[in-house]
Amino acid sequence: MAEIKVLGVVGAGQMGNGISQVAAQSGIDVICTDVNQGALDKARDTVKGSLGRLVKKEKLTQAQADEALKRITFTADLQKLSGADLVVEAATENEKLKKTIFDQLDKIARPGVILATNTSSISVTRLAAGTSRPERFIGMHFMNPVPMMQLVEIIRGLVTSDETYAATKALAEKMGKTVTTSKDLPGFIANRLLMPMINEAFCALEQGLSTAEDIDTTMKLGMNHPMGPLALADLIGLDTCLAIMEVLHTQFGDSKYRPNTLLRQYVDAGLLGRKSHRGVYRYDDAKK
Ligand code: NAD
Repeated sequence: MAEIKVLGVVGAGQMGNGISQVAAQSGIDVICTDVNQGALDKARDTVKGSLGRLVKKEKLTQAQADEALKRITFTADLQKLSGADLVVEAATENEKLKKTIFDQLDKIARPGVILATNTSSISVTRLAAGTSRPERFIGMHFMNPVPMMQLVEIIRGLVTSDETYAATKALAEKMGKTVTTSKDLPGFIANRLLMPMINEAFCALEQGLSTAEDIDTTMKLGMNHPMGPLALADLIGLDTCLAIMEVLHTQFGDSKYRPNTLLRQYVDAGLLGRKSHRGVYRYDDAKK
């Protein structure tokens, strides 16, 4: 099993830049791509800021932080991914978009290279089927924020090979993560459990059961959750939460997964959470 020395990342949003940072900190060279130059510039700033905070907390030396940043190439040129040993896609949660990206990646990446998706809910088997290498295709689902969260959920598509699974698991472990393994069913483990809770929190808010603050405080102090569901939805991105609920609803065909209308209205209004500075809560300079 060949070691992954160069990681390709597609999508430099909150997940893509986190994956790039953690890989670089683990001594892996990273080619981080995005269609949007603004997203690439922001990703570099975010990684630099995050590494800087680790230096301040004395978890890294300045030299290690500089070295990690140097390992990441930020580029809008997808062709550069021809140099990658594994490519993980972390673009917007939209099946059509991801299919187009994998169509391109299948042509750019060398034949033996594993293609992975960080999708939160879309069928890994279906995305794999659009490529010429379904046995070398896998779900590698990092948690947000990637530098802080310990878990990577690995999702095997119907025909993912044992070798692909082993190489992906080894990569996640090299990045300091703990792996759980899920079958390819909508939402996998994490979002099958998390998203219905978030959706229900929006239902409660819509019904006027309580304030957003009290719903969140109840789950934090009553259930010992580190964040309340509404604040967590703002962190994840309300568009991403809605997209995942749509997948659960459509794929299982069960009304219990119907996306809440208030959640949909926030997304329609462009209030996507932290990334747009306003969701359920307001964020000015990253403060509520
Ligand atoms: P985001 O909106 O922060 O970033 C998405 C990025 O993809 C943007 O920078 C956008 O410019 C880029 N993009 C769009 N089209 C592209 C293309 N054709 N080629 C290259 N880049 C393109 O979203 P995110 O929160 O980082 O989520 C990315 C993926 O990770 C989604 O599949 C999401 O479901 C998954 N995910 C998200 C979370 C979370 O908490 N946000 C957690 C785990 C997994």
